[in-house]
Amino acid sequence: SSTSAFNDGSLESNARGLWTSSGQNTITATLFPGDGIGPEIANSVKEVFRQAQVPIQWEEHYIGNTVDPRTGSFVTYESMESVRRNGIGLKGPMTTPIGKGHKSLNLALRKELGLYANVRPCLSIPGHKTRYDNVDLVTIRENTEGEYSGLEHQVVRGVVESLKIITRQASSRVAEYAFHYAEVHGRKRVSAIHKANIMKKTDGLFLQCCREVAENYPNIVYEEVIIDNCCMMLVKNPALFDVLVMPNLYGDIISDLCAGLIGGLGLTPSGNIGDNGLALMEAVHGTAPDIAGKNMANPTALLLSSVMMLKHLGLNDQAESIHKAILKTIEEGKYLTGDIGGSAGTKHTTDRSLLSWSYSCCG
Ligand code: NAD
Repeated sequence: SSTSAFNDGSLESNARGLWTSSGQNTITATLFPGDGIGPEIANSVKEVFRQAQVPIQWEEHYIGNTVDPRTGSFVTYESMESVRRNGIGLKGPMTTPIGKGHKSLNLALRKELGLYANVRPCLSIPGHKTRYDNVDLVTIRENTEGEYSGLEHQVVRGVVESLKIITRQASSRVAEYAFHYAEVHGRKRVSAIHKANIMKKTDGLFLQCCREVAENYPNIVYEEVIIDNCCMMLVKNPALFDVLVMPNLYGDIISDLCAGLIGGLGLTPSGNIGDNGLALMEAVHGTAPDIAGKNMANPTALLLSSVMMLKHLGLNDQAESIHKAILKTIEEGKYLTGDIGGSAGTKHTTDRSLLSWSYSCCG
């Protein structure tokens, strides 16, 4: 069902632990508002949570503009510690300069915190018409290595080298996560996406690990699909897929393709999952510099990410009510932002769509 795809299903005991160990009726979660449209859409989440009386207390952290020597990146030690301590967080998008400058803050967070699986449910939204009505698939992306290991250097003038690292440990871990996810969510098929015909050693090892894990899940159909063919199949008939597991770079690209199938980046949430229930949810999209500060951003993707967060914490009633309110608002079509069909003007803004959700969720 649509709600189950947003439920990671792995943290209920952890949630109860957080609940009782604090001795109060609130859970503390880390919030990174992020850059660009991040603070606007983070405000939407905060306001909807307030209206829905969600028992979450936010611990907000901003990313610095100098390197913290304790982490070696712009991500401060305090913000890393906050996620580790709370075990749960929500993050807005963060800017990464193209072709120059500092390394991605997102990569630093995922690597430092050991957030090894990136889960991106991609579900058609009823009432929002796209080419397909019933898209329901989940991409699971290895989140710590591959081409995103950040190992690039110049060999000699005019020749640069980038290392793609694939390890048995990370590949088996993400494959295990994908099969476990499929089992918990009643999904039937796991497709490993690769280019092992060319990248024989790296993607070959990734596939080998997936095959080994698949043997332990005889009730789930396992298949292997070459990435270029996968793109074509997804665009032609997304119903051919269920759960897709893949190395880091492919996951980044395929999940944006999937976002396009259901109406765009404004609608797709994700979760970064680590050991012991550690989770940092975020929208799939970036900082959208073209619309930042203009009250035009669609807060749906971050709100759906916050729904994933609530499910992860076992706060299922609040998650359901906010999820329903989001779907109702989009179905009614009155307060849509421009990216999903609203036209420019005072009615179609981040604030207005937020207002509508608050009313539909809270009275
Ligand atoms: P982007 O996702 O920011 O924007 C792509 C297009 O989608 C733009 O036209 C934008 O206006 C639109 N869009 C995105 N989110 C939207 C929303 N919520 N509502 C309405 N429209 C939305 O991708 P980009 O332009 O390639 O990247 C911009 C910056 O974001 C770069 O610095 C990049 O590194 C960073 N980025 C960060 C993350 C992250 O923090 N997880 C992810 C992707 C990109």
